[in-house]
Amino acid sequence: MTSPAEAHGADGADGADGAQPGPGTKGPDAASLAVEDLVAGYGEVRALDSVTITASPASITAVLGANGAGKTTLLRAISGMVRPRSGRVLLDGADRTGRSPEDMARARVAHVPEGQGVIPELTVEENLRLGMMSWPGIVKRRADRSAALAEAYERFGVLADRRRKLAGTLSGGERQMLVIARALVARPRVLLLDEPSLGLAPRIMTQVLDMVVRLSQESGITVVLVEQNARAALAIADRGVVLNLGRVVAAADAKDLAADVALRHHYLGF
Ligand code: ATP
Repeated sequence: MTSPAEAHGADGADGADGAQPGPGTKGPDAASLAVEDLVAGYGEVRALDSVTITASPASITAVLGANGAGKTTLLRAISGMVRPRSGRVLLDGADRTGRSPEDMARARVAHVPEGQGVIPELTVEENLRLGMMSWPGIVKRRADRSAALAEAYERFGVLADRRRKLAGTLSGGERQMLVIARALVARPRVLLLDEPSLGLAPRIMTQVLDMVVRLSQESGITVVLVEQNARAALAIADRGVVLNLGRVVAAADAKDLAADVALRHHYLGF
């Protein structure tokens, strides 16, 4: 699903969270995220029905469930792409419900939608520079931009090697790395990742998920990870949430969900 039926209206909220940090480290900058009793949908479709989740700072929360369970809608409702009908979205305890995508980006919530393409006609570096457009004015200085690019290339060596290549020439795994790197140059505190391993070879998928672990453990980013591959997602997540037809049917430590044979068979397909 690509076009939310309930587009967001700007509400003039401030959204900015003050100065940007230096290269991410775990600590005071890490943010908690909570969704309380969230209801959202499209026209007649109620895609989320009273969904509650909590993600502690610098944790990975896997959001799992079959096609149509509401996983993508949950990320959209958090990032402001779908306006919730009721319920709340809390960032570090502050109510951000119904904010626009721009406000959420300024609050340093980054959303990488499923299959979100790179721009093939631009170089890798030009694609990365696009990720800086949501930054508050203070970090638009050349030195800040250079530092952010250097950080991206340090984290994603494969992109450094290809910085002047057109993004259209990258492999699937490299493109996925590029869209994640593009989200990271805005130094998010919360990263919403929709099916980052989709269509990738198993070895590349492992690399992407290893990167997600580093983002939480080393950079202190709070990650909400939507994945069809429940086994792989639970292996790296701290918490797991299982959705079915828009409702939460299980929410627990990832290792407990992975050990629940009945739940796995019923909802997770492994
Ligand atoms: P998938 O893994 O297939 O992407 P999902 O768990 O992410 O599934 P959603 O995409 O959030 O589920 O869809 C939840 C429900 O909302 C489904 O019934 C879906 O058909 C419906 N839906 C999603 N996007 C739209 C849209 N733009 N317009 C109308 N209905 C939609």
